[in-house]
Amino acid sequence: MKKKYHKFSGLLIGIFLIDCVFTSVFMFPPKFQNNDFISPLGDDSVETVFDYPKLAQISGNFSRYNLTVIMDEISSFIEGNLTVDFYNNDGVNYTRIPFHIYLSGMEYASRPGLIEIVNVTDLDDPNLAIPFDVYSDQQIMWVNLTANLEPQKRAEFMIQFNATIPDGGIDRSNSHGSDINNSTIYKFGSFYPIPCVYDNKDGWNTDSYLTTGDPFYFDMAYYNFFIEASSDMIIAATGGLEKKLENGATTLYHFNPIYPVREVTFSASKYFQVQSKISNGVNVSTFFLKKDFDFWNVNALNHTENALILFNNTFGIYPYPTLNVVEEYTEYGGMEYPNQVYISESIERWPNTPEVNRRYLEQIIVHEVCHQWWYNLVGNDEVDVGFLDEGLTCWSTDYYGEKYHNNWEYFQNKLYIDEVRVYYYASYGLSSKINQTVYECIATYTDYVHIAYIKAPLIFEKLRLTLGLTDFLEGLKLYFERHQFGLVILSDIQQAFEDIVGQSLDWFFFPWFDNEFLPNYAFSNHNYNTDTKRLTFTIEDLNEPLNHYKYSQQVPLAIYDASKQLILSEDVWINGTTEFSFVLPNDPSKVSLLYDNYILVQLDSDSELRLDLIISQAIPGYDLYILILVSLQILAISIVIIRKRVRD
Ligand SMILES: [Zn+2]
Repeated sequence: MKKKYHKFSGLLIGIFLIDCVFTSVFMFPPKFQNNDFISPLGDDSVETVFDYPKLAQISGNFSRYNLTVIMDEISSFIEGNLTVDFYNNDGVNYTRIPFHIYLSGMEYASRPGLIEIVNVTDLDDPNLAIPFDVYSDQQIMWVNLTANLEPQKRAEFMIQFNATIPDGGIDRSNSHGSDINNSTIYKFGSFYPIPCVYDNKDGWNTDSYLTTGDPFYFDMAYYNFFIEASSDMIIAATGGLEKKLENGATTLYHFNPIYPVREVTFSASKYFQVQSKISNGVNVSTFFLKKDFDFWNVNALNHTENALILFNNTFGIYPYPTLNVVEEYTEYGGMEYPNQVYISESIERWPNTPEVNRRYLEQIIVHEVCHQWWYNLVGNDEVDVGFLDEGLTCWSTDYYGEKYHNNWEYFQNKLYIDEVRVYYYASYGLSSKINQTVYECIATYTDYVHIAYIKAPLIFEKLRLTLGLTDFLEGLKLYFERHQFGLVILSDIQQAFEDIVGQSLDWFFFPWFDNEFLPNYAFSNHNYNTDTKRLTFTIEDLNEPLNHYKYSQQVPLAIYDASKQLILSEDVWINGTTEFSFVLPNDPSKVSLLYDNYILVQLDSDSELRLDLIISQAIPGYDLYILILVSLQILAISIVIIRKRVRD
């Protein structure tokens, strides 16, 4: 399958190792405009860049931010300044705007994270203070506007803040490692005030930092991102490097993603090794510690590039100048941010064979890179519909497995289909409904990881098998084209597929995303007439009363005669409880529903992948059920008579 990509190999420039991240050559496509750069170096007050990129390719208005941070690695501290040019893209007036200040919600060893708001001031007059309120337990800050902000209007102000990232801990921001081992990394995610999203469903989404799922939900915005740090630091950050100004002990970097992004991140280490190549017009780079050289060397960069090539060609173009994959200290496998993703340094030590751990490295890189399409470019509320981008990202990672390793199940250590069919919690009557918010999952004891990372991609695979690969991928392309730089809900992806196939897909989406339980089929009411050779039977879904919607799925059905010869084989649609009738060439002895492949039914762990109905050779024209009933009645009468005689 890999040879399919040979046509792109001409675009690839050989891998080159570089000592420092920014000595590589940046290849900006000519359509990118550079901003004028005003250096804040040598000046205590941070200057502002007003010349934002203006791109003809994107319609719509976006907020614009200049974020400037000065990093002090000794105390894992930054002094920050966020210039806000907030665009009201909603149909309501705002009197105040909330910002997430997540750091204090993150895990830490002994020093918690903190974002401290120093002041909020008018952009034109820094002496004019704008009132704000901080709600630490919610990790929210409200800026109280001095005037009503009407729809399609902008509000400008400046937030000065200090941020300390957690020491240790295995969360999304931390300082970790030791200089003795050449392993210190400072990772800054969600480290500055990020505006909340207003939507029609929730109003302002002011959710605090959650430990279930990724609690993030951001609008797209243009960013100019300035970082000042020790000159011996190697910096990986969201956006292309526009300028680098060395000033003795410190160096100032200006990063610009050029196109809107949902947030920015950066990581700093004196010990990063960097590998880069230009691919598809993007500067692709990996940043990792020397201790992991053998594990990451070339492989990590190749996986990143392969993912970029596949997803560019399958869904739509990644428009940014850079794509970084950066090593991190964390509990989970990796984490996505726009233009830059993090991959755990622990993978090499996971308790598997080296070969399996290498496969995990590939899978996690591909997964996080894929979030550039499903999370950053097409965004959604991670709290309400986190299963949407996670489910699509998992499906797409498995599609990478199919394209590069000839197997959609290549990365599935335990097959999704097996996990979903015997979902452990179902035996306790607990739901595996996908379309739930993180809060609902917690309240209903639903395993969020199961529904978002296992069941959701499986349902997308079922849709692919139902629509066929061509229409399925056309649907994803349309979805990407329509919603890139925007925010989506579940019905948006359904609409894209419906527009491709030209029919409603309620019958698919409603049951598979909104039902609590999978189908649980059983045979009932069968009858065989030896004169007419007509077999009739009903397949019931025993879980139908527990669900909101009837399932429809196509299931292979086989009928055998007494000598075990197959006398009928057909894929039948089971639409809720369904009656069947067949005229057969021979007398049947067994009917089987075959659950191989991607037939989705609730099973016990010891169940066979089939459901059988045994048909005994009945008296012509008589139903087995009646026969049993009559026999039982005769037996009962006999017992009564015998007992009566014994008593007598
Ligand atoms: Zn993910």
